[in-house]
Amino acid sequence: MYRSHNCGELRIANTNTTVTLAGWVQKSRDKGFMIWVDLRDRYGITQLIFDEARTDVSVMEAAKSLGREFVIQIKGTVIERESKNNNIPTGAIEVLVSELSILNESQLPPFTIEDNTDGGEDIRMKYRYLDIRRNPVKNSLLFRHKVTQEVRNYLSNLDFCEVETPYLIKSTPEGARDFVVPSRMNPGQFYALPQSPQQFKQLLMVGGMDKYFQIVKCFRDEDLRADRQPEFTQIDCEMSFIDQEDILQVFEGLTRSLLKKFHNLELGNFPRMTFDEAMRTYGNDKPDIRFGMKFGELNAVTQHKDFAVFNNAELVVGIAVPEAASYTRKQIDELIEWVKRPQVGASGMVYVKCESDGSYKSSVDKFYDQTDLAQWAELTGAKAGDLILVLSGPASKTRAQLSALRMELGNRLGLRNPEEFAPLWVVDFPLLEWDEDSARFHAMHHPFTAPKKEDMHLLDTDPAKVRANAYDLVLNGNEIGGGSIRIHDKETQALMFKHLGFTNEQAQEQFGFLMNAFTYGAPPHGGLAFGLDRLVAILSGQETIRDFIAFPKNNAGRDVMIDAPATIDRAQLDELSLAVKV
Ligand code: ASP
Repeated sequence: MYRSHNCGELRIANTNTTVTLAGWVQKSRDKGFMIWVDLRDRYGITQLIFDEARTDVSVMEAAKSLGREFVIQIKGTVIERESKNNNIPTGAIEVLVSELSILNESQLPPFTIEDNTDGGEDIRMKYRYLDIRRNPVKNSLLFRHKVTQEVRNYLSNLDFCEVETPYLIKSTPEGARDFVVPSRMNPGQFYALPQSPQQFKQLLMVGGMDKYFQIVKCFRDEDLRADRQPEFTQIDCEMSFIDQEDILQVFEGLTRSLLKKFHNLELGNFPRMTFDEAMRTYGNDKPDIRFGMKFGELNAVTQHKDFAVFNNAELVVGIAVPEAASYTRKQIDELIEWVKRPQVGASGMVYVKCESDGSYKSSVDKFYDQTDLAQWAELTGAKAGDLILVLSGPASKTRAQLSALRMELGNRLGLRNPEEFAPLWVVDFPLLEWDEDSARFHAMHHPFTAPKKEDMHLLDTDPAKVRANAYDLVLNGNEIGGGSIRIHDKETQALMFKHLGFTNEQAQEQFGFLMNAFTYGAPPHGGLAFGLDRLVAILSGQETIRDFIAFPKNNAGRDVMIDAPATIDRAQLDELSLAVKV
């Protein structure tokens, strides 16, 4: 038996018992005649005491040789501590050691393994196994486990069945880029790693599984953006004989139960907003509704004067920043510079100070009088003391810019309270979205998403206007997940591929298996996927997903601990028929 108790377990009630503990030496304090050691394992820290007067000489000697992170096993007696530590659960006792064995020595770790470490990000990633010994990382992994377990229970109780789908599948041209795996046995041919189990879960519905879920790794070879991982985990689900409302109810219920369990929050029905409304009101399809600053469209009250910048703009739109009328010229200039940065890309910004006496002072006083500005205030919801900021230009770009500014101000003004949880369903996404680069329409969600019946007639005449039965769940300005009702008949699916620019042959070659399956009695079905990494991060009040993944990749997509990706040798390349022939 390695241990009778763990390092987080002993209390005053255990006094006088003989115990065996094992763990890591967090630190030791050597006073010559007495040595104290903090012994750590996953469960906590227990203080050990070696006392010249009561401990064997040889044990005393061995204790002196202990270094940080040595792995040891001790036997001893639990005694009451003279000076108690109320900050830890074991703080009332210590263990007077009688036997010590060193199970393994340790080199001096490259950073301190404590809650506040001196190690930078890079070094901690390289020695992730040491970082995992620290409470913040360890607790994140434990929390992730709890969330995962809760999700499994919740869905299993509703008759969802967890089914594993394959990781070695076929590359498809839609969506992000695939990671591919060469097939040794089929020279010149490749598998792809799934970007999601989408087609398999639909085939499970054709197979009659009715309710499926899987907590599953997905792989996307995208250009790395901050806090994106090339492999990530989804809670992937699909249901048969349902409509959109059924799906929203189930996953709203799941989210509600997670917020109840982990934050003791009782949330009512989640609000819903159409994609159009979200874009108009927040310039964003994943709005953080914990704070206001809703967009006010100002075309009607700005384009009747001689201000060419506004007159020539497709959209003039503003927000009211609460209690910011007192900003100095310098502060406002800084905000103007902020929106002009290439990452945001505005060409300028107009402001109006709503003074406490009810008057207005703006950067365009030359063009607009007090009556004009009062209308701006009304449309942006500005009160006395607020600052109105206005951008103008092409509609979608301007909305994105003002949305970036709104989020920045939300952060700066402390309006994004991590303790508050504001879920929101965004529904009625467009079916298609125009892609400038390839000069064709792409599926906004994916090509298996069903158009709304009432919009079907627009497919030929005005494809951008067709709405889909597609929905996202947004939590505090983050997309937690999304899904759709699927096409389940061959004709509609073929029509969809046609609109996405596939020839019949291409559609058949890429997706023939799915369309074929649809001819054998596919039930109406739909589903969604939640991003587990982000969900867990947000549930613990954080936004960085990397901290909730045991072995994450860095921003360049590398695993710096195992040093991957890496080259492979010539013989391996040969075997895979990948060697460049010279
Ligand atoms: N497969 C989709 C995704 O990964 C989710 C869904 O439609 O169920 O985004």
